[in-house]
Amino acid sequence: MSRNKPIDLYKGPVDPNSGYLCMWMHWRPNIDAPDPQFPGQKLSMVTFIPAKSGDQCLCGSGKKFRECCRARVYWHPLCPNPDGKSFSLMAPQSVTFKISNRASIRERLMNDVRLQCTADDADSAFWVYWGDPALDDQHGTLCFGDIELKRNRTLYVTAMSDIRMQTLLPLLRDVLGDEFKPPKIRHESVAVIDKKTGNRIQMRATTDPRGKSPNDPERR
Ligand SMILES: [Zn+2]
Repeated sequence: MSRNKPIDLYKGPVDPNSGYLCMWMHWRPNIDAPDPQFPGQKLSMVTFIPAKSGDQCLCGSGKKFRECCRARVYWHPLCPNPDGKSFSLMAPQSVTFKISNRASIRERLMNDVRLQCTADDADSAFWVYWGDPALDDQHGTLCFGDIELKRNRTLYVTAMSDIRMQTLLPLLRDVLGDEFKPPKIRHESVAVIDKKTGNRIQMRATTDPRGKSPNDPERR
């Protein structure tokens, strides 16, 4: 099966013991877009990546699949890292910056080649992180994070994994200059699937596959 073929979890069985769920975000060009300044759309999809029991686990733990993600009670989705080759466990997170000079920050964001502006109106401007060079596949350009500059001088940044956030922070340091302060990272819960029942459960993210997290039901 192709790595990048979307699946519908509600149709047809997918065996949690034979692979991973992977969440992708793409920017797909659309020449018929209503706003010619932003000819495209963001597209999120989940794919199934098959794995063999003795394979190195794709989550980055360094263990074998059978001793790592396959042994978990919950099916915790992966997302691709900004290198486009490796993966991380999904761990949604965000940071917020209060800024004073909105116009100059906006201009720097617009001029940064690693970013693509996807919407710009009176209240907010949005960018997705592509990296340099941007990585394309058959679904569009891979996106690794979101930046929103609000009218009230708040810069709101979201990323789906630790590695993605650690990639965005140096960019934000460049863009914000003197206005950059090491931010507090807020972790959101992640939707995992109970392998036995197929039910979706919101869970605190395990951000480091090698670390210990006493609150993580996967490790009971
Ligand atoms: Zn794993």
